[in-house]
Amino acid sequence: MSKRRFYHTMKQTEWDVVIVGAGPTGGRTATHLASLGHRVLMLEEHTEIGRPFQCAGLVTPKALQEVGLFDSVLEEVDGARIHGPSGTLAPVGTDGILRTYVVCRKKFDQGVVQQGMEAGATLWLDSRPIHAEVTGDCVRLDIESEQQEVSLTCKLLIGCDGAHSWTRRTFKMGKPKEMMIGFQAEVLGYEGKERWLDMYSGSEIAPGFFGWVIPSGFGTHRIGVWSTPDRLNGRSVEQCYDDLRSHPKWKDRFSNLTEVARFCGPIPSGMVKKTVKDRVMLLGDAAGMAKPTTGGGIGPGFRQISGILQPLSKAIFDDNLGEKHLSKITSKHFKAMKKDQDKARTLRNLLVSDTSDNELDNHFTNFAREDVLELINEIGDIEKPVPLGLALLKKVPAFRKLALRAGSKLLFR
Ligand SMILES: Cc1cc2nc3c(=O)[nH]c(=O)nc-3n(C[C@H](O)[C@H](O)[C@H](O)COP(=O)(O)OP(=O)(O)OC[C@H]3O[C@@H](n4cnc5c(N)ncnc54)[C@H](O)[C@@H]3O)c2cc1C
Repeated sequence: MSKRRFYHTMKQTEWDVVIVGAGPTGGRTATHLASLGHRVLMLEEHTEIGRPFQCAGLVTPKALQEVGLFDSVLEEVDGARIHGPSGTLAPVGTDGILRTYVVCRKKFDQGVVQQGMEAGATLWLDSRPIHAEVTGDCVRLDIESEQQEVSLTCKLLIGCDGAHSWTRRTFKMGKPKEMMIGFQAEVLGYEGKERWLDMYSGSEIAPGFFGWVIPSGFGTHRIGVWSTPDRLNGRSVEQCYDDLRSHPKWKDRFSNLTEVARFCGPIPSGMVKKTVKDRVMLLGDAAGMAKPTTGGGIGPGFRQISGILQPLSKAIFDDNLGEKHLSKITSKHFKAMKKDQDKARTLRNLLVSDTSDNELDNHFTNFAREDVLELINEIGDIEKPVPLGLALLKKVPAFRKLALRAGSKLLFR
């Protein structure tokens, strides 16, 4: 038992579920579980929801419809103009057909968390766990809340506490396979195509990945780059951002910009080995759920919880929350998500990340062909990149060599 002194508090100390982290995954999880009648507490270490934000703000139509937060939308996007290293353009999308939304993350996160509270969950701001111990019949938590220490218990602790998850580290639940690092600035003065993103590729800009320019409403754009530390080879992502802005091919587009803000943050992708332990579960970025192809983590966090909701709710009512039972509840859904993530990463590596600029240029020449663009537009879905990747390998003769390199392991397992 901890030797810390605890202050007398009016705060409720017995909960069914304590969720660490009131980001989109925490808020959505709270909404679901509170709606099903559980006593849910969300702990958020910051004094407000949705700040600081480290996100380009792209939310798929499916995820946005799920929460109905259309008032957080800043822009609608019909497509992406994707630029190869030497400038080959592959425009993916169709004018007038919405592909994705750009949201204000502060409004979006606040909306998601508010839905949790409307469903009956409680939110403590300026609150973080400092100690956790799982006993036979509960989780004992020491919380620092508004500079006071509070002890409480819950049946289930859910870590929705993001890329550097305290819950994951405390319970030694492994690490996400990849930790990408993203840098982004919000700017005024970029002249893009209305309702379209620009994406820039090549080792000088974003080794193995890409840079983006996303319209974010009121004449602003979000310019960002992302990559992995091993591919950056000592460069920082901030340097990559500077290199994008001063790139001989593109610098005119970036010459008259005024920066409004700068952000940098991690993107964990690759589900951790252990998503559950006795009375403990990880969801969202804490579990390494961001997509390896786009870095999007909001949709996967939503999908992860919605796929296990009914059995999880029953397990909470039955207080049957040992690791074995939690594994049983989660294994099918989480395994399918992990398999999809692994396939998407393999395809990404094959087509983009593990290629030289020359190879990437050749790929772009193929991407830009009319029949291939048709295929991309027909099958392409940010939410589900795997079917498109497989179709490219199977149907485009120029990519067949890659299909052989990928082998049957990827294509048919
Ligand atoms: C540059 C960049 C661009 C991105 N662009 C996109 C995009 O366009 N679309 C997209 O879908 N995703 C994007 N992402 C990823 C996206 O931001 C995350 O996947 C998403 O926010 C994950 O939600 P989450 O609720 O799991 O975690 P988070 O949003 O990280 O929320 C975790 C919450 O937990 C709180 N917290 C952390 N530790 C504690 C603690 N110990 N105690 C209490 N509270 C704690 C944090 O303050 C935070 O509020 C981007 C990421 C980066 C870095």
